[in-house]
Amino acid sequence: MNTDQGTVAGGYSTQSGATENDRPTRPAMLRGAMGRCPACGEGKIFDGYLKVNDHCPNCGEELHHQRADDGPAYLTILIVSHIATPLLLYIFIAYRPSALSLLLGFGIGTVLACLLMLPRIKGAWVGLQWARRMHGFGLPAATKSA
Ligand SMILES: [Zn+2]
Repeated sequence: MNTDQGTVAGGYSTQSGATENDRPTRPAMLRGAMGRCPACGEGKIFDGYLKVNDHCPNCGEELHHQRADDGPAYLTILIVSHIATPLLLYIFIAYRPSALSLLLGFGIGTVLACLLMLPRIKGAWVGLQWARRMHGFGLPAATKSA
């Protein structure tokens, strides 16, 4: 017997007007990209390099609902490769460097760019999920603590 009506996997019923106004998407994503909690903008979102805290250490907002998975990695590779590829072509045509210097320069450069961008993109990703109330972020507090 299922008495839990209205709470199907990840779904919940709420008034759409309230969800858009109390969690603006852009500030939440910017806070996440800065490594801060999307709710308060003060507490750290990460425990270490990429592990998202279960709760915000400042405001206590639950962050364990995030499901970033491989999304930030795909987006990081997409952005870095779309910058590095035309840059590689331009530098090769304009300066004709040796193959070894191209390999070393772009190998190290793209790895560093990915390592720098990945936490920022993941933070923004979690901020987006929080703002849009995805994956349990939008459940009422009574349901979350149960
Ligand atoms: Zn917070």
